[in-house]
Amino acid sequence: MRQPLIMGNWKLNGTKASVEALINGLKAPAAAAANVEVAVCPSVIFLGQVEQLTAGSAIKFGSQDADLHTAGAFTGENSPVMLKEFGCKYALVGHSERRTLHAETDAVVAAKYVAIQAAGLIPVLCIGETLEQFEANETNAVVEAQLKAVIDVAGIESFANAVVAYEPVWAIGTGKTATPEIAQTVHAHIRAYLAGFNAAVAAKVQVLYGGSMNAANAAELLAQTDIDGGLIGGASLKVEDFSTIIAAA
Ligand code: PGA
Repeated sequence: MRQPLIMGNWKLNGTKASVEALINGLKAPAAAAANVEVAVCPSVIFLGQVEQLTAGSAIKFGSQDADLHTAGAFTGENSPVMLKEFGCKYALVGHSERRTLHAETDAVVAAKYVAIQAAGLIPVLCIGETLEQFEANETNAVVEAQLKAVIDVAGIESFANAVVAYEPVWAIGTGKTATPEIAQTVHAHIRAYLAGFNAAVAAKVQVLYGGSMNAANAAELLAQTDIDGGLIGGASLKVEDFSTIIAAA
């Protein structure tokens, strides 16, 4: 019912040569996984190159962030309208590295989410708790608050055209993955919380897992009922690893 979505978050990595090798290497695995959507999120500086390299292939792409403004005096930012012009289908929003390192509040994340949708892109709303919150049993409260901040501004219906990525902060880049049971429990909670606002929308929205997903653990995570795909950092930078994850979906 929900199409699996395997998305690579390349973060601040890559060269023209590595981008070309990675995209070319992923073309066949992406084409072979007919029921799975494959997407990559490069640094914006590579978007023009990725647009050309992916032309005619099954690989979609997106940005790792977008500004909440469409144009104007905002030095250093990238407008969602520009991202759309360069062929992006998706834009990550609220990644924990943006929230932490760039002080993005729930309000900023919600405004960006709205701007991304207004430009015709699909926001991939990243949510998740820190280790401290996890240990204090606050996971459900944290993800609810992060979702509510967006629902309040954009409405629950907006999730008909959005993706949610649950990324426990303690699992990102740490090699510590949430067990499939923990991840499934949180994913089910996210869906139930959204269903409290609109059951039909909640049943359809893809909820991806992110946080040290790799070639070895992907199959078990992706087998869970409410895990509809992955948002993959480190393991998305190697053709072999990412292809294994695609094949597991
Ligand atoms: P990781 O990153 O797979 O390297 O843990 C995931 C993410 O931050 O999206």
